Amino acid sequence: MSTKPKVAFFDFASCEGCQLQIANLEEEIIGLVDLVDVVEFREVMTEKAPSYDIAFIEGSITREKDEARLRDIRKRSGLLVALGACAATGGLNKLKNVRGNLEQVRRDVYGGDWDRPHLETYATRAVGEIVPVDFQIHGCPISRDEFLHVVEAFALGTNPEIPDYPVCAECKTKENICLFHMGQTCLGPVVRAGCGAICPSNGVGCEGCRGIIPHANQNAMKDVLAEHNLTVEQITEKFNLFPLYPEVNP
Ligand code: SF4
Ligand code: SF4
Ligand code: SF4
Repeated sequence: MSTKPKVAFFDFASCEGCQLQIANLEEEIIGLVDLVDVVEFREVMTEKAPSYDIAFIEGSITREKDEARLRDIRKRSGLLVALGACAATGGLNKLKNVRGNLEQVRRDVYGGDWDRPHLETYATRAVGEIVPVDFQIHGCPISRDEFLHVVEAFALGTNPEIPDYPVCAECKTKENICLFHMGQTCLGPVVRAGCGAICPSNGVGCEGCRGIIPHANQNAMKDVLAEHNLTVEQITEKFNLFPLYPEVNP
């Protein structure tokens, strides 16, 4: 009998882009199946399993009835990992919370059918707002390399390490001209690195998909804004695109 950790993937409200990153692993898939037994993964197989050593949860919780399913998965799992921004922080799905009026949100999305019972929705919650989460893999979508690093660490019984420094650090090693000097805004000073500063390297300000770093120096962020004659209000929309949510990773 295999002694490899049993791994399963589940999705809630999401675009499934993070699971696709995994389903589309190419030669790295061989390394993955050497390390773990994938026992449940709706996107690529029909088999199911009664329990798991590691459950990866993609997506956020947007309906009351999702909570029971999530709690059931939690009960049957050793480690539970939030996979991607939707699961880790609520992600883009939390934009509707900012809007506030959920009935109007349903009318806007579903038109004349908005009040059908199966289209019920409530304020979006991150996975960790419903059940305890052991680790968060950040990003929208996640990085395949970071996912493989986390799986490998757990399979070897160690703690995965992911960057706890800001995107600015990666941006500076690429010798990019800071976007603030070009009249743009960017959340790089307070957002977790690990993406290779891909957005600012392509002329687009970081919007925070990897979440806020632990102990982020928000005063330093305000100083940067003040230095460039910008206000907190001018950058608030970016903070709202990807919500802040307390860090659970060690
Ligand atoms: S984090 Fe982004 S890519 Fe991943 S499921 Fe959510 S919306 Fe899709
Ligand atoms: S562009 Fe953004 S990430 Fe790069 S140095 Fe400036 S603030 Fe930091
Ligand atoms: S630069 Fe910011 S928004 Fe872009 S991928 Fe990195 S963390 Fe996400």
